[in-house]
Amino acid sequence: MESKARVVIIGAGIVGCSAAYHLAELGWGDVVVLDQGPLFETGGSTSHAPGGVFSVNFSQMMTRFARYTIELYSGLATHEGPAWYPVGSLEVAWTPERLIDLRRKAGVAQSWGVEAALIDTSDARELIPLLSSRIHGALHVPGDGIARAVRASAAMAAASGEKGVHYYGDTTVTAIDVAGGRVRAVDTSRGRIEAEHVVIATGIWAPRTGRMAGIPVPLKPMQHPYVVTEPLPELEGETAEVRHPVMRHQDSSMYFRQEGDAYGIGSYRHEPLPVDPEAIPSHDHAGGRPAMMPFTEEHFQKALESAGELIPCLRGARLASAFNGVFSFTPDGMPLLGPSPDVKGLWIAAAVWITHAGGVAKSLAEWMVDGAPEWDVHEADISRFDRHALRQSYVNERSLQQYREVYDIIHPLRQAASPRGLRVSPFYEREKELGAEFFETAGWERPQWYSANEALLDDDRPSWAARSDWAAEGWSPAIGVEHLATRERVGIFDLTPFMKLDVSGAGALDFMQRITANNVDRPDGKVIYTAMLNDQGGIKCDLTVIRRGRDRFSVITGGGGGAHDLAWIRSQLPTDGSVEVTDLTSAQCCIGVWGPRARALLESVSEGDFSNEAFPYMSAREATVAEVPVLASRISYVGELGWELYAPTEYGLRLWDVIWEAGEPLGAVAAGIGAMDSLRLEKGYRLWGADIHTEFNPYEAGLGFAVGMNKGDFLGREALIEARSKGITRRLTPITLDDPGAVVMGKEPILADGRVLGYVTSANYGYSVGRGIAYGYLPLEHADPGTKVEIEYFGRRYEATVASEPLFDPSGERLRS
Ligand code: FAD
Repeated sequence: MESKARVVIIGAGIVGCSAAYHLAELGWGDVVVLDQGPLFETGGSTSHAPGGVFSVNFSQMMTRFARYTIELYSGLATHEGPAWYPVGSLEVAWTPERLIDLRRKAGVAQSWGVEAALIDTSDARELIPLLSSRIHGALHVPGDGIARAVRASAAMAAASGEKGVHYYGDTTVTAIDVAGGRVRAVDTSRGRIEAEHVVIATGIWAPRTGRMAGIPVPLKPMQHPYVVTEPLPELEGETAEVRHPVMRHQDSSMYFRQEGDAYGIGSYRHEPLPVDPEAIPSHDHAGGRPAMMPFTEEHFQKALESAGELIPCLRGARLASAFNGVFSFTPDGMPLLGPSPDVKGLWIAAAVWITHAGGVAKSLAEWMVDGAPEWDVHEADISRFDRHALRQSYVNERSLQQYREVYDIIHPLRQAASPRGLRVSPFYEREKELGAEFFETAGWERPQWYSANEALLDDDRPSWAARSDWAAEGWSPAIGVEHLATRERVGIFDLTPFMKLDVSGAGALDFMQRITANNVDRPDGKVIYTAMLNDQGGIKCDLTVIRRGRDRFSVITGGGGGAHDLAWIRSQLPTDGSVEVTDLTSAQCCIGVWGPRARALLESVSEGDFSNEAFPYMSAREATVAEVPVLASRISYVGELGWELYAPTEYGLRLWDVIWEAGEPLGAVAAGIGAMDSLRLEKGYRLWGADIHTEFNPYEAGLGFAVGMNKGDFLGREALIEARSKGITRRLTPITLDDPGAVVMGKEPILADGRVLGYVTSANYGYSVGRGIAYGYLPLEHADPGTKVEIEYFGRRYEATVASEPLFDPSGERLRS
């Protein structure tokens, strides 16, 4: 075995083999893949998964991973047969609610460019004649099917083997050598291999492997029962391994696949059965199948009953085989992918289904070889977790919930029940008194709205105050009240979850100039909006920077993506120690005081001069509010006059009380994130992760104004020069719904002449403009104001019109007043 390699991949399941294959395709052949079990019968999850592939997911990233994976598997085979059976998929509706949700899913399939159709019961029974006529219909995705993952793994190993990759079975990695913050080597049962990069592709063992390098891998292995029936008389004489589409019966948390003349049934319909990664038996003790555990019949009883309802010939069917397989769940249901934020050269690709393994591996290999994946993968990025989310108790609780809800109809605004209350701002008790409805972001409890404000609704209620069904979930008319009160008077917003960093040191200016696209070498006290780009010119994150001195900057980014942004910033730090980054998120609370009466409010509680002359828009000053020392920054995510006030956390309650009291005579309201989102959309402010991410450059995103091309070199500049010379073909565009009562939620397809042009990146109702608003990237020929488009929502097409932005206060007068 080699004693040195550029890359060592630990784990030869579908993920490890795909990773090696993609690295070799990109020219990195000096790769060694190790597995503790015998190759391709490794005993990991891959070796016994039934391989159903349903590609349509409400996450575009997951759908892309799956579509690419299908394409990949379609071209793979071994002497035993193909790796891919293109039989399509069916998701059946057992309830009317499911049928409605499948309509939503058919919409998102269009958004992501996947062929899918809602079909009626008789068409579904054409595809699977064994089906009960009691179903209400089904979603049919003809391009889905069933993978033979062991064959796919072996075929990729053979192909990459020709490009220099070496595979070794029966070789256990026992240690990962980390020194000076970098990975150096792995120790194995057969010797040591020095490596520049190590990839953890060990599936359910990944927490154990991570510990060898001192890093947490937040996944929970879970038992999952799968059975295969005895041959069914109804399928007698069937010669094909599989002909029927793979099928989900989500109303009973189950899935089905044909296994020749029998049927395979998998079920999530039981209390989760977590497995301690440390307790997974070794190969010697588990007959070579450590990820297969004994079948627990009691957890399958209800599933068998439901199976007999959906497919009547399964009633009373005898089981030929049954086992509890083990595979991984994460706190948010997404894979774990990317470079470890703590150990350079260490990469993770875990909690990945067979469905997504090809796409995940493609992204991983691009990340390693080219510095960034082609697609935006922030939803899977291993650096997305805050510290609490890496702790075992959190991982367990949330991952178990993911298992329970894997097939549930989940509203995009639905909140996890537990664990909650992890991070609360100093204003929390006051917010509770006002009836705050808390939503969770990165562990923070953030008021989405305050039910106390519902009482402020006029007696002749505006038309937007009535909502029903899907649009009414996670919503209250208080949001509209808070929005309008902010526009007309003043809103008090809890912004404490913002990530606040202090960047200082002799190298701070050079560093900030290199990692941001705008010129931040501005006078002290200047506030600058900017993006950080990757080498490809894609938007890694957006942020506000405040110049605090020659060698000091405050950096503020959104609450939700803080961990991700911090990991990126730290990964770019110079190694000479000339820049120090301090995370002040917990040390400082923040209140946004925004609205035309914000100045009057602050002048009544501060000796500071908040006049336009003394305190212009986009500047920051130290001040006091009553006795509380604050940094006041005149910027607003809602497009109104106002300030963000940053104060040491322990003064928070006093700060809130002073502002609250001063605000009462001015008609101030406490306002939540629901109002903030609608206010910002009227102003066209971009939301990172939805409107902007690495697949879009600042010009397409309408953020060209925040690029300082003349400031000298910065990350992504070369790519931007090229992008500018080529010109853009699409633009982030505001659209308003023609029916003033209509609202959409985001991710819906945008169409013209029946053709899908794009999808909704963000949507909300604009209470000031009296219209539902949607943003999306549209081809330039459809992006001119006045162009007619349609947005499909739950199967219905809504007329809509491209608008010019911002929709509210286009001259920005209110901000500068
Ligand atoms: P594995 O296949 O588990 O590979 C990890 C490898 O790492 C193992 O081979 C192990 O031996 C090796 N390893 C661990 N530690 C070490 C070490 N220290 N040194 C060397 N080697 C080590 N997915 C779908 O997409 N569709 C389905 O229908 C589907 N159904 C499923 C049904 C069941 C019953 C189960 C259990 C899973 C199912 N899955 C399905 C999930 C899917 O099987 C897994 O997510 C996927 O196989 C994980 O692949 P992997 O390569 O990450 O992990």
